[in-house]
Amino acid sequence: MNDESLCAVPPMAVYDMIFMPARKDEDFIEDFEVTMASFFTALSGKNRIIFETENICKQGAHYVARITAPFKDALEEKYDDKYVKKLREKFYSLLEKEPELEYVGEDICYTDCVCGGEEAQDYILCIFPHLEDISPIRCGQCWSNIPYYLLPELSEETREELRNWKSVYFAYDKLFYATDIGEMGAHKMMSKVDSRLNKKGMEICRKLEKELGKPVYYYIYRFYGKHGKACPICGGEWKEPQGAITDYRCRKCRIVAHERS
Ligand SMILES: [Zn+2]
Ligand SMILES: [Zn+2]
Repeated sequence: MNDESLCAVPPMAVYDMIFMPARKDEDFIEDFEVTMASFFTALSGKNRIIFETENICKQGAHYVARITAPFKDALEEKYDDKYVKKLREKFYSLLEKEPELEYVGEDICYTDCVCGGEEAQDYILCIFPHLEDISPIRCGQCWSNIPYYLLPELSEETREELRNWKSVYFAYDKLFYATDIGEMGAHKMMSKVDSRLNKKGMEICRKLEKELGKPVYYYIYRFYGKHGKACPICGGEWKEPQGAITDYRCRKCRIVAHERS
């Protein structure tokens, strides 16, 4: 990979968000906890935090949520969409005062996995197993995942299609890694350009292109066997020169691949 093509990626930041509900009675707490869960789920849906419900604990009357943010300013209100804004307002109205945010340190799990996408001339739709919570849209310059909140807003329809396709892809991925029963079938589904899974992925890429305003390449996974010299869709040359971000790329069919995934 060419160093000049790499985007600047600061380490992800871990925070404790500390807050206290305004009242202690049972009915209030019930409503408070539901709102709190919706607020964090909404932030996580936009990749502004990486978070699981079990990351919240109680310290006396306070609640502490340990969250990982892709960038230090990811929690700032300037990134709120209408939905998050509404939930934030409701959540804050149930608190004694605005939450405190304490910086804990640098994340060691996801660091180097995300970039802001500012340098991206194109995107790559590609799923890799350990990043289930982050957007599968990668920066074409540095190969990192770009959090949803830093991409142009996607339509509800495209978001839903992407979400569904992603779950199916992960199901095949698990089948491939976890069992010898489903291994070859899953590999075929992920490596053949005409499988239903990949055709759907490429269809989503065309929708993403319209909404993101830049070319979106589809990543063809392959673990066994070799990619041929010719693009598996149009038959044209698709081998990339050394130092390119992927080993294969067909600009016409908008697909990319590595020698071995
Ligand atoms: Zn990048
Ligand atoms: Zn082609």
